[in-house]
Order: sequence, then structure tokens, then C-alpha cells
Amino acid sequence: MEKIKMTTPLVEMDGDEMTRVLWQLIKDELLTPYIDLNTEYYDLGLVHRNETNDQVTIDSAEATKKYGVAVKCATITPNAARVKEYNLKEMYKSPNGTIRAMLDGTVFRAPIIVKGIEPYVKTWKKPITIARHAYGDVYKATEMKVKGPGKAELVYTDANGNETRELIHDFKGDGIIQGMHNLNDSIESFARSCFEFAVATKQDLWFASKDTISKKYDHTFKDIFQDIYDKEYADKFKELGIEYFYTLIDDAVARVIRSEGGYIWACKNYDGDVMSDLLATAFGSLSMMTSVLVSPHGYFEYEAAHGTVQRHYYKHLKGEETSTNPIATIYAWTGALRKRGELDNIPALGEFADKLEEACIKTIENGEMTKDLALITTLPNPKTLNTQDFIKAVRATLDSLMA
Ligand code: NAD
Repeated sequence: MEKIKMTTPLVEMDGDEMTRVLWQLIKDELLTPYIDLNTEYYDLGLVHRNETNDQVTIDSAEATKKYGVAVKCATITPNAARVKEYNLKEMYKSPNGTIRAMLDGTVFRAPIIVKGIEPYVKTWKKPITIARHAYGDVYKATEMKVKGPGKAELVYTDANGNETRELIHDFKGDGIIQGMHNLNDSIESFARSCFEFAVATKQDLWFASKDTISKKYDHTFKDIFQDIYDKEYADKFKELGIEYFYTLIDDAVARVIRSEGGYIWACKNYDGDVMSDLLATAFGSLSMMTSVLVSPHGYFEYEAAHGTVQRHYYKHLKGEETSTNPIATIYAWTGALRKRGELDNIPALGEFADKLEEACIKTIENGEMTKDLALITTLPNPKTLNTQDFIKAVRATLDSLMA
């Protein structure tokens, strides 16, 4: 069989620990036997980030701007313990944060659904994709503890020194205050990424906030979404038969629980933080969540939603057997290859991505899975495989599908 050829390189961002081990296994067993893999390789493993003073992360984001599509392995975000463990020159920022800031993107997370890993919510049949705004609000807030009586005000001073004031509260005793902000530019980028992704995946888009209570702050989000929709996306949505609608966040959660799934739920920063973990757990497993960063400029970066699976890596280093789930990392590759195929008009890449995903699902539904899934599956007598054997099992299924 002839291998599939690629015309434009994928930006490949390698990473850390157990997911770095998975990365190589996936390439060797599931990709290079079928594809003449054309990637521009960036090693975002912590050792190399340290060697390059994190320049490699910036270079990889620049390459993503150049080529449009990247696939990223999970990476360590250093904390004090990691600075010691890796003897780091400094406590580098999260690579995901750096890349997101450079691409100005929004992260979309969606569960991979298989029979036997059942969502806790019985009505959910299709994935619910969550989009989280990643700038501002409480994450960039300024706070104060108030001691005793006094007046708290919001003050805005414009470039000419003119002040606008609003009373927050006339305190009679101790209390607390918080000031937060967002930027119209950032909200517009967020909205465009959401509309773009809805069009790309042909799914409805929901956006919810609390504009009845927050008449200026949340209402601005609502207005910006509506404005961009009306001006730039309404026709396209109609053509595709998909829908955008805004509702209150309390109404949205009620609808989500009663829904079948199959749509994108756009959330403000804090709502997205909370709801994405809720959805990951409710769908069954963090190891079955995919994640893609979509930039309003049309760049895509695919990854797994989980981390580097540190505990398994330490076992692996001791020569012990591991059973790490590679599915989300495989889907990062299939997502990126499919997008590359779309952009370069190479249908074979998309067809291969479909087959590989089908092989993953079939293997699990046949009862062969990693330990994290074996512990929660409703299938009778699941066969728990180690990391290597599970990838080999997916390979065997893939070979039978390709034959
Ligand atoms: P983690 O996602 O690696 O693990 C959380 C829990 O889920 C662990 O119990 C782990 O065993 C389990 N788990 C996750 N993925 C699994 C898989 N594929 N198969 C089997 N079990 C799986 O998160 P953590 O332990 O909080 O963090 C470990 C490292 O990952 C940290 O250094 C953190 O900075 C990094 N991290 C990176 C990303 C990213 O690059 N996108 C995201 C989160 C955490």
C-alpha cells in the first residue's frame, strides 16, 4: 500500500513524561506505517524549553501562524517542585498559556463517546463541546478587604484626566471588594472563534451569561456576540442549518442536562473553568476529552485535554508496566491531520483520520481497553491492556479496517 503524502508540514509540539512516551508509540505504530508524515518538529519537553530559555515555545507558536495547524503533546507547567526536579533556570510559564496568548485563541473541549463508557446524564447521546473564554474577569481581578466603615467606589480616569465614579457600597462594617475587567477586543475574538468553530463543525452554538443581573458587564458580552453574529455569520448559519442562541446561564444549565448533546456551549472564563470539569467527569473520563485551540485568524492547535500523567511516568521509569490511555492524544493527531487534509485538499488524510478514530472506538467497544476505562466500563468482562498492547490492539483493528 502506498503511503499518504502531505504537502504542508504539521507543526509538531512534543511534550513531557508519559504523554511523550505515548507520542512516539503513536507515531511509530499508528501514523508512519500509513502516512509519509511531514512535520516541523518542536521539542516542548521541559528539558529543551530550559535549554532554549523557552524560546522553543514561542518558535512553535510562530510556526503555527505560518502553517495554520499544530498538534501538541501534554507538557509540564513548572511549579516549585519541577524547578528543583529539572534544575530549571526559571519557573517558565505554561506553554499552553504562551501559545494561547500568541494565537489569541479559544479552547474547545469535547468528549469522545464510546459504548460502554456511559455518561452519568442518561439523555446525552452526542458530545457537548465547551468553549471557554480565556481572558480576564475574576482571573485578573483586584481585591481588597475592607476594615470598618467607609465608602468604596469604582473610578475610571480617561486619558484627559476626567473621572467617572460609581458607588460600590457604603460600608458600615468589615467587608470585601473586587474589581474586574474585560476587553471588547478579547470578547470579539472569543465570539469569532466560537462562530468559526460552529461553522467548521456544523454544530449549534449556545452562549449564556447573567445579563439580567449584570446589566453592563455581562450584557456587553451578549451584545458583542449578537452583533458579530448578525453582521458576519447569520447567513452562513442559515445556509448550514445551524443555530446561534443566547440564554441566561441558569436556563442554559437546565437545557444542557435535558439535552441530547451535539452543540457548542460558549462560556465566560469562570463558567467555562467550572463547567468543563463538570462535563469531563459527567461524560465519564478526562482521558477521553479532546481539546483544540481555535484562533479567530484561522489557526488550529490540537491536543489532549489531560496532563502528562506523571504517576504513570514514574512507574514507567522504574520499568514497571503502565496502562495509560492514548485515545485523547491519538485524537489530537487525527484532528490535526483531518484539518491539514481539508486545507490542502488531500481527502486521503481525512479518510485516514476517520479510520483511525473508528479503530479506537471499535477496539474499546470490543472490550479491549486501558485500566482507567476498565474501571468504569459497563461492558462485561473488559480486557485490561498495558500501554503498548492497547496501541497494538488499535493497530490490529486499524489494519483490518484499511484492508
Ligand atoms: P493529569 O491529567 O496528568 O492527571 C490527572 C489524573 O488523571 C491522574 O490521576 C492521572 O492518572 C489520570 N489521567 C489523566 N490522563 C490519563 C490517561 N491518558 N490515562 C490514564 N489516566 C489518566 O494531570 P496532573 O496530574 O494534574 O498533572 C500532571 C502534569 O501535567 C503537571 O505537570 C501539569 O502541569 C501538566 N498538565 C499539562 C496539561 C497540558 O499540557 N495540556 C494539562 C494539565 C496538566
